[in-house]
Amino acid sequence: MPAYDFICNNCDQRFEVFLTFSEYGKKTVKCAFCGSKNVRRRMTKVRIARSEESRMESMADDFSGFEGLEEDPKAMGRMMRKMGKEMGEELPPEFDEVVDRLEKGQTPEEIEKEIPDLGGDAGDEE
Ligand SMILES: [Zn+2]
Repeated sequence: MPAYDFICNNCDQRFEVFLTFSEYGKKTVKCAFCGSKNVRRRMTKVRIARSEESRMESMADDFSGFEGLEEDPKAMGRMMRKMGKEMGEELPPEFDEVVDRLEKGQTPEEIEKEIPDLGGDAGDEE
């Protein structure tokens, strides 16, 4: 299961959460230190400048739209591709791969099985 880095907006602590790809964006993530739900995803290899934070928040809103999309991988693929463009930053190579597979109609579970290190720690330079 891939580990995702999160940062708590409440206490500024960094923590890792293990989520399957299909859980990501659906499961409520709580801070490991203070229990706050006010957390944000820390993007690896992407330095988040202050001006980018609001953009990340609007993307988090997009993620809430993922609910129910699980039965419609193509719609999820389109949404992820749109988000990738909005980020305009260096994306992990798996990102395109995942989007391509979603658009071909594969489910997140199938994709996770075929790309075992999806969302892993590769490239985290800190
Ligand atoms: Zn916290």
